[in-house]
Amino acid sequence: MKLSTQLLIDGQFVTGDGPAEPILNPATGELLVSVPEASFEQVNRAVNGAQRAFAQWSRTTPAQRSTLLLRLADAIERHAEEFAALESLNCGKPYLAVLNDELPAVVDCFRFFAGAARCLQGPLAGEYIEGHTSMIRRDPIGVVGSIAPWNYPLMMAAWKMAPVLAAGNTVVLKPSEQTPLTALRLAELASELFPRGVINIVCGRGESVGAPLVEHPLVRMVSLTGDIATGQKILQSAARTMKRTHLELGGKAPVIIFDDADLEAVVAGIRTFGFYNAGQDCTAACRIYAQGKIYDKFVAAMTDAVASIKVGGPREEGVEMGPLISDRQRNRVASFVERAQSSGHVEVTAGGKIRPGNGFFFEPTLIAHARQEDEIVRREVFGPVVSVTRFTDAEQVVQWANDSDYGLASSVWTRDLGLASKVASHLQYGCTWINTHFMLTSEMPHGGMKMSGYGKDLSLYALEDYTVPRHIMVKL
Ligand code: NAD
Repeated sequence: MKLSTQLLIDGQFVTGDGPAEPILNPATGELLVSVPEASFEQVNRAVNGAQRAFAQWSRTTPAQRSTLLLRLADAIERHAEEFAALESLNCGKPYLAVLNDELPAVVDCFRFFAGAARCLQGPLAGEYIEGHTSMIRRDPIGVVGSIAPWNYPLMMAAWKMAPVLAAGNTVVLKPSEQTPLTALRLAELASELFPRGVINIVCGRGESVGAPLVEHPLVRMVSLTGDIATGQKILQSAARTMKRTHLELGGKAPVIIFDDADLEAVVAGIRTFGFYNAGQDCTAACRIYAQGKIYDKFVAAMTDAVASIKVGGPREEGVEMGPLISDRQRNRVASFVERAQSSGHVEVTAGGKIRPGNGFFFEPTLIAHARQEDEIVRREVFGPVVSVTRFTDAEQVVQWANDSDYGLASSVWTRDLGLASKVASHLQYGCTWINTHFMLTSEMPHGGMKMSGYGKDLSLYALEDYTVPRHIMVKL
């Protein structure tokens, strides 16, 4: 398989002038390819190219932008198997999961925003002061610097590019230094469709390539999906040039299981939604609160379910969970589990260890009897580790669930829809699922509260985030 390593800067494919970044295969630990990162000067050229392209692109009609986004969606769909192969190679994800779950979502994201570009709505024009007609426009912002994480590289590229372009902005996307391969292939397809400079892809590390992008005075908005600490750095830097920011940060999703929940459905749900993508997911169902009567039955059934998850390389028959992205991330996960165990009161009922051999594998892990104040309940692990805590009543569990810096995703499991709706209305999370978890759809917003950030991805809200409302007044 051909691995693209060239950056897309102002319509040209160029080799990065910066140091080469080794791209590893997480399932084996072997080197796949090296991608030279963009130099400071190349970041500057990308931003200047995007700025020049903005003049024309921002004046295209929604229909014109929509047509190109639809063509890009079709091109991705035609190359779905190639993209799935690249993504699973670079991330260690099960190939079939990428092909069947992620690729359709990526294609749908471009198609949704192609339609949404033509459907923005707002207040009516009218005479709000006598003799003057007021109207509202929603205009693009300018060059958007988009910075993506490594957990769903192509999907994050889609979330970061589709609404930005649909709204009439131009983009300089920086994928994660660890996972640039699908974004670079996407650049090749996009460059055949979009005018020069509208889409730029620069690779490299956060400090050397991300930071100059954020600091660049011609970048009018920065969008990040990443860690809270990265979001804080970006906010500080963006303050100097008063940039708009769109932040999608970490999560630690509470999952509230009441005594009357359908145990089988809960266990099947957590088995999937807690361990999908090896738990490297900001919405992962990782912080379970189970009520007193169901608690023991749940822990027993969940332990068996977690132990039955098939771990392996991307192409292994029946594989459900792959490795973590890097040795560093695996060690981080292992150290969370070690610290939890050293508390003395928790019990690791499944997994808990690094899998010996090649690749960055960690066993799917269940930690029972965790307490609200434990680190494992409070901090994001970003790995295949789920904790379980016992609770007594709704009031207590809502208080515990909300007692968190994070505010991205949550779920409530009960047969009592009245109770579920009441609890959902009291949770301070961007999303609450009832009797499911993790399900996203292009029409609905995805984004956080509190330190999980405030940008919305997907939906018309994302399109609004990447536009600015303007007031035009005519004196009659
Ligand atoms: P990260 O913050 O380390 O890196 C994210 C991106 O930011 C990378 O491209 C990185 O190079 C870049 N970056 C790092 N420092 C930078 C700086 N100073 N200036 C500019 N760019 C910089 O995060 P990660 O480890 O790649 O991803 C994991 C994190 O992302 C987790 O916390 C996870 O919860 C979060 N995440 C959130 C969502 C969401 O939708 N809210 C989705 C996926 C991942």
